[in-house]
Amino acid sequence: MTVKSEKKQSVAIVGLGLIGASLALALRDKYHIVGCSRSRKTEEYALSRGMAHEICPIDKLRGVDCVVVCTPLWVLKDTVKAVYESVGDSAIITDVGSVKGILKGMPGRIVGGHPMAGTEHSGIEAAKEHLFENACYCIVPYENSANKDVEFVTEIARAVRAKPILLTCEEHDRLAADFSHMPHAAAYALAETSVGDNVSIAGSGFMDCTRIAGSDPDFWTEVFKLNRDNVLCSLNSYMSELNKMRKLMEKGDYDALKEILKSAQSKRNKLAAARSADSDLSLSVDVKDEVGSIGAVASLLMRGGVSIANIRILDSREGVGGALMLEFPTVYDAKAAKAALKDAGYAVW
Ligand code: NAP
Repeated sequence: MTVKSEKKQSVAIVGLGLIGASLALALRDKYHIVGCSRSRKTEEYALSRGMAHEICPIDKLRGVDCVVVCTPLWVLKDTVKAVYESVGDSAIITDVGSVKGILKGMPGRIVGGHPMAGTEHSGIEAAKEHLFENACYCIVPYENSANKDVEFVTEIARAVRAKPILLTCEEHDRLAADFSHMPHAAAYALAETSVGDNVSIAGSGFMDCTRIAGSDPDFWTEVFKLNRDNVLCSLNSYMSELNKMRKLMEKGDYDALKEILKSAQSKRNKLAAARSADSDLSLSVDVKDEVGSIGAVASLLMRGGVSIANIRILDSREGVGGALMLEFPTVYDAKAAKAALKDAGYAVW
């Protein structure tokens, strides 16, 4: 590193793509940011947009307080090795990889990290300062991680306005298999199974269930490879549940089948309620059941310059108090939306 800020702690970011550059944007006021890329063009872009205070090659990083490795999964381990060869034990090394088992047993002051946020876009130009706001940020200490290093990485998660959650490496990879990796496999399978020549009745339910099958196959093949055992275990559980339902249908035991559906419905409803109660990024709004009511809400917010990430029509008003669930990319949008809707006389929760 060539220049070191006197006052601020320094964080180097290796791999200035969607996640790396978004972290740089979110951290640049609090930390001295050192950008690290294999491409001159990316470096120039980062400097010209103020994403990094300085640029430095990996082998000159000694002197920074922490290095965040944000390269793709297939080069993550090698990048961490190269960083360790450069900084040794002088800096904390953390990463943002979607599978945590890959860094287990590596030398250095490593603390795993995984911000649970992203978009379908990649590269530095897709970066957003608010990407991590309100998202869960998994912090994964390894056997030799020191408490003060774990606290430093936790502070990074807080600084990007995410919600840090401490997990062991095993817990992370198992939960990630259940809630992210296996559902991606299921969505790919569903799209592969049902989408044929005639898609005329594919509606919003099918599109919801297969949305994540639009994700990058290179990335997901790598995830399935790196978290293979956990993904296989989650897939086995899912397939056994499907088999159970198939057998009950074969037997004509619809009472037992309904019990499974009721149990799943109740679990899903509890999850949705807990998430919306917990979120500063969504709200429910009561609208009349008439043509144009969704358009009226959307136009009102558009006129107020509010960005909407998602609009969902709730099937039931029970216990929610509104018929439209709106989700926003930032808490600022959510607050502005709430104020604008209330001013216009809507009941908002
Ligand atoms: P990305 O936008 O493609 O950025 C990765 C960056 O790494 C690239 O812009 C590139 O920057 C650099 N890079 C690419 N190939 C490289 C190579 N072979 N060697 C060295 N550097 C290379 O990807 P991303 O979405 O930010 O993902 C990065 C990491 O974040 C992954 O480990 C992923 O598991 C994790 N993650 C992603 C998401 C998500 O939804 N996208 C969410 C959570 C975590 P330069 O060419 O400019 O150096």
